[in-house]
Amino acid sequence: MSSYKYYEIPVNYLGNGLELKLPVHEFCGGEGPVVGITACIHGDETIGVEICRQVVEFLKVNDVHGTVKVMPVASPLGFECGLRNTPIDKNNMNRIFPGNPDGMVTDVQAHVIVEKFLTGLDTYIDIHSGGQDPVVDYAYVMNDEEMSRATLANILYRPTQDYVGTSATFTAPRGTKTVTIECGGGPNAPYYVDRGVKAVLNILRLKKAIDGEVVKRDDQIMISHIAHVNPHHGGLFVPALSYDAMNTIVEGKVVLGRVYNPMTLELLEEIRAPYEKNYIILMRGSVNRIYAGDFTFMIGDLDSEIK
Ligand SMILES: [Zn+2]
Repeated sequence: MSSYKYYEIPVNYLGNGLELKLPVHEFCGGEGPVVGITACIHGDETIGVEICRQVVEFLKVNDVHGTVKVMPVASPLGFECGLRNTPIDKNNMNRIFPGNPDGMVTDVQAHVIVEKFLTGLDTYIDIHSGGQDPVVDYAYVMNDEEMSRATLANILYRPTQDYVGTSATFTAPRGTKTVTIECGGGPNAPYYVDRGVKAVLNILRLKKAIDGEVVKRDDQIMISHIAHVNPHHGGLFVPALSYDAMNTIVEGKVVLGRVYNPMTLELLEEIRAPYEKNYIILMRGSVNRIYAGDFTFMIGDLDSEIK
């Protein structure tokens, strides 16, 4: 049986004297790959913590080959406040990797994650999701297409240009096989928790970190273009689609949602689908306050499919 230990990686001391620490659940079982899994790099993506919890429970009662390290909350301060960014310095940690030991708290935290967790991995799985409102469902293709396919996501995204400063853009160029999974959010449907757990375990099987048959599917769609369709005004967001529209195709430049001024009640903006064949990858499906530029819809262009 493989061994299990829990430990915390110290980052630094907060203004109130409490120590900022990062949690790690580590399983070791002799020969095999070194796999790292992170969730909640964005503090409001709580579903990733539950995916990690279920994966850890699974690994406690199954044999692990090599090393599997799970960091369920990579932004403890963001998680504490339910915020995407660190509340103290307002930084988005997933734009500033590899961090900076001389910077503000998010820079230091990113630096510690790089030094004490990401460096030396053979395989890296980073779990993201929507926050309080948006639901999302796709996986990036970075430097290991087979691993991305093993997430079992409907949509695989091979970007022509990626965000700068993500944890994945640190690991991938250094030869660590890397995948970013975007799974769930909003009304935390058990469906997405289950999907995320299945994705992680399937990758662990593919990498032979655990035993078992790798599940494959032959109907995944790989695309190179995803549009972020976000409002230009804040206000009251009223969706034109229900969450059932996730993972469906909408044809033409139809209305996806509307933004109203909550004071005058006038229509400020109609948010429209950008393509001829629009695959709904991220959406908001509930009436809520919205800010300009908030993640509202991510639409895959099915005409950008990579065969
Ligand atoms: Zn995220």
